[in-house]
Formats: sequence, structure tokens, C-alpha cells
Amino acid sequence: MGKIALALTSADDGSLAAAERADLVELRLDHLGAPSYEALVDRFRGRCIVTYRKPDEGGVDGDVSEHVRLDLLARAAADERVWAVDFELGCHGHIPADPKAKIIVSSHDFEFTPHASDLASMRDEIESTPCDIVKIVTTARHEPDCFAVYSVLKGASKPIIALAMGEFGSPTRLVSLKLGAELTFAAAAEGKGSAPGQLALDEMLGLYRCREITAATSLYGVMGDPIAHSMSPAIHNRAYVEAGIDAVYLPFRVAGDPAEFVRRMVDEVGLAGMSVTIPHKEAVMNCLDHIDPVAKRIGAVNTIVVDAERGGPKLKGYNSDQRAACDSIEKAMGGEGSLAGSTVAVCGAGGAARAIVHGLADRGARVIVANRTRSRAETLAAEAAGTVEVLDPSELPGASFAALANATSVGMHPGETSSPVDPSALKEGMVVFDSVYNPLETKLMSDARAAGCVVVDGLEMFVGQGAVQFELWTGRPAPAGVMRSAALDGLRARGRKG
Ligand code: NAP
Repeated sequence: MGKIALALTSADDGSLAAAERADLVELRLDHLGAPSYEALVDRFRGRCIVTYRKPDEGGVDGDVSEHVRLDLLARAAADERVWAVDFELGCHGHIPADPKAKIIVSSHDFEFTPHASDLASMRDEIESTPCDIVKIVTTARHEPDCFAVYSVLKGASKPIIALAMGEFGSPTRLVSLKLGAELTFAAAAEGKGSAPGQLALDEMLGLYRCREITAATSLYGVMGDPIAHSMSPAIHNRAYVEAGIDAVYLPFRVAGDPAEFVRRMVDEVGLAGMSVTIPHKEAVMNCLDHIDPVAKRIGAVNTIVVDAERGGPKLKGYNSDQRAACDSIEKAMGGEGSLAGSTVAVCGAGGAARAIVHGLADRGARVIVANRTRSRAETLAAEAAGTVEVLDPSELPGASFAALANATSVGMHPGETSSPVDPSALKEGMVVFDSVYNPLETKLMSDARAAGCVVVDGLEMFVGQGAVQFELWTGRPAPAGVMRSAALDGLRARGRKG
């Protein structure tokens, strides 16, 4: 099981308190200053890593001479209170004979990630030095760079730390633990990191439970671009804890080919399942061995199940948005079977609308599609099975329907004051469903409440699609209640950040 080291760059109260919660504390003396050595080594006796990075390896204290810097590292290596000392490759000639601390020999690349074979040569060179732990840090400029890091980890014959900096490399900070890395690093708090892409300690310990990640931990995630604000990690990781499942769910920023990414994640890291979000729901279908007929008809997959089968794992694609949205509407209309023969107006003709319109038509509803761009509504209506009519959004107040679903982005933050329909279209007793969940209470929803409608928020669909994914992946009922409270916590935290 890997350890978590807090990269201490400031001795303020918050950072020192965070350091108490970590297994190890990396004393970044180039940030903290050499005079702080005694007090900090004493405070973190037996669990500190002494690092005094030189400027061309990412250090910030450019005034100190190389001679002084290396002397301090050599002194730390002979100090019984120190857990480890980090010498950069090239400076390893200064490692004292018979050190008391463990010796890390490291290499950092702040520009890019070398090819996997070059990284392997570097690892072999470091392993040939008198080090106890190899450390290789690169910069990921796009997501395939992570695979070079994973391959260097898997081929190591000494204990190793390997990760890639930057947003694309961020998952390596956790996946490396599954692949046997000695430790990973965290920042004292968001924005206090010593390297790009470093996550805060509380996030690493709480959301991702990094101390529990082992080779046996099942790896799931969500891929998209952008991905930083996805709330899927919050709901899935909370669900695994609730269900007592040894699994972790990470966000992956993927800018290139999503099909290639998924294949490599399965083959090289043992991915167990993936959620797919914008803009990859169509292109990811190229890597699938089987696509659920509903997802095929919608033309979008948001869930990939990896089925271990003889002859290699098979990748299966589903669309959980469709089931979640239609279940939410159907429940509000009176339960199973209530959609058959009812008329539902759907605003929008994009990805979410496609899932909802196909799903409603499959359940026997008569559907009205109303979209700003009429031609897109007409295309969708022509593709869906069943009775589907097209109206302009301005015609909705004169139309008759039992439920209305907003599948446009109108009303979403920062456009909270807008609604996709005129309030006169909303009638007492009508079911009004909004797929937008940020904000949780949209203008459409408050108009609908004022008109006496039954209102369903977008979080119900969001949690519902996550619950369907959980069930597809684990074969167990999803703890939907805790998933919803995790999503609410996520929305509140987002609100606090503005
Ligand atoms: P999309 O494919 O980009 O489609 C956007 C839709 O919104 C299109 O129909 C577009 O009309 C319409 N639209 C955008 N701006 C508009 C405006 N100013 N006035 C009128 N119509 C406008 O996006 P999507 O993936 O379908 O997502 C749509 C919404 O569903 C988003 O708010 C998203 O957050 C939400 N969603 C929620 C969940 C959930 O779990 N709750 C899941 C998926 C999506 P045109 O065709 O005229 O451009």
C-alpha cells in the first residue's frame, strides 16, 4: 500500500496542520529556507523527506550556492531523524557512504514526457545509482503521456515513485499507487501545491481514499474535456464507500482519441469501467465490442462496462442518461407505464434531448420536440420511433402536453435568469423536468412551482444515470441516497468557490 507525502512549501499553521495528517512530509527547503531545517526535521522526526531542489529542477531559492545545497543534503542523509533525502540524478555522486536516511534519486522534466523507452533507460540509470527509491516526474502535455509513466512503474526493480505533472497527468498521482508506487504527493490545500496537477491532501485522503489503493483496487473514471468540474467522482466514490467496494473513480481529461484512450486504459492499467462525457460520447463507440441497441439508436454512449472474458476483455457501451431521465419523468407522472399514451414536450435537440426523446418514444409517449434550431428538431423527430411532432418553442403555450422536459442548456449557470419556455406554457398539475442542475433551482423550475406543476430537478437525472452505471459495473443496487447527498455537497462546495 502506498504512502501519501505532503509537499510542505510553507510553514503556516494550515500547512503544518495538514502535514500532521500525512504519512510523510516532504520538506521543500528551497521554499522553506535552509534555516528551518532543524525545527522541521525535529517536528517531523522519522517521517520527513528532505528536498532542496535546484532552480533548473524546479527549485525556487536561486541564491544558495550548489556547494551549500549539496552539503545540506549530505547532512540530512546522515541524520537519523530523516526518513529520506532526495538527490537529483547527476548529484548522486554526493550521496554519503553509509547514509542513515533512505536515498531517493530523482529526475524531473518540466517540459514534456519522454518516450516510454527513454523513460525506461532513465529508470535503469537511476536504479544503477546507490539509491533506495527511484523517482521520475515528467510533464504530461496530453493524456497518452500517462502511459509512459505507467510502463516505467511496471518495469521497476527498485521501489519507485513515478508521476506526470499537469492536468493531463493528474490521474497518475493515484493510478501509480495501484501499480505499486512507493508513495504519492499531495498539497496542503488547493493552490498550495509544489507542482502542477498536485491535488490537495484532503481530496487525496477523503474523496479518493488514496491510502486504501492497492493492486486489487478496481479502477473506474469519467473522461471528457473539460473534466475538472465533473461531480461524478464525488457520487461514485461515496457510493463505493457506502457499499464497501474496493474501487476508486477518477476524472481523466482526454483531448485526443477517446477510443484509443479507453483501450489502453483497459490493456495497460486494468480499467474496470468508464463514464463518458462531452465531447466523447460518439467517438468512443469506435472501441466497443458491443453497443446496447438503445445507445446505438441515440448515437451516444456514456457508460463503458469492461467484461472480463476469455480471449481478452470485451468493452460494452450503454446510455444511462436515457434511462435516468425517463425514469425521473415517469416516476413524477405516476410510476411505471404512466408515459404510455401521454404527451411530453421536450425542449432541445442536442445530446441530452436525443436520449430523452428516444427513451420517451420507446415507452409509448407522444413527443413534441421544440428546439431553437428547428432543423435539428426535425432530424431528431424523423429518427425516433413512435409519434414525434416538431413545434417552435414559441408555439408551446398553445400546445397541450402533460409533461415538459428541458434538455437545453438554457437556465444553466451563469444564465440563471433565462428559461427555455414562456411561463404561460406551464399549467397546474403538469410535470416539469429540468435536466440543468447547476443551479439546482432554475428559473423554469420556479416558474413551474408558481404555476402549480410537479417539479423534478436535474440532480435526479444526474444521480440516476450514475446509479445505473454503478449497477452495470457492480451488479449491486446503487446507494442512490448517499449519491444524491454527495452531489448536493459538491454543488454547495462549487457555490462557495463561486
Ligand atoms: P448540447 O448537445 O450542446 O445541446 C444543447 C441544446 O441546447 C441544443 O438543443 C441547443 O439548441 C440548446 N440551446 C443552447 N443554447 C440555447 C439558447 N440560448 N436558446 C435556446 N436553446 C439553446 O448539450 P447537451 O449535452 O444536450 O446538454 C443540454 C443540457 O442538459 C445541459 O444543460 C446539460 O447540463 C444537461 N444535462 C444534464 C444531465 C443530467 O444528468 N442532469 C445529463 C446530460 C446533460 P440548438 O440546437 O439551437 O443549438
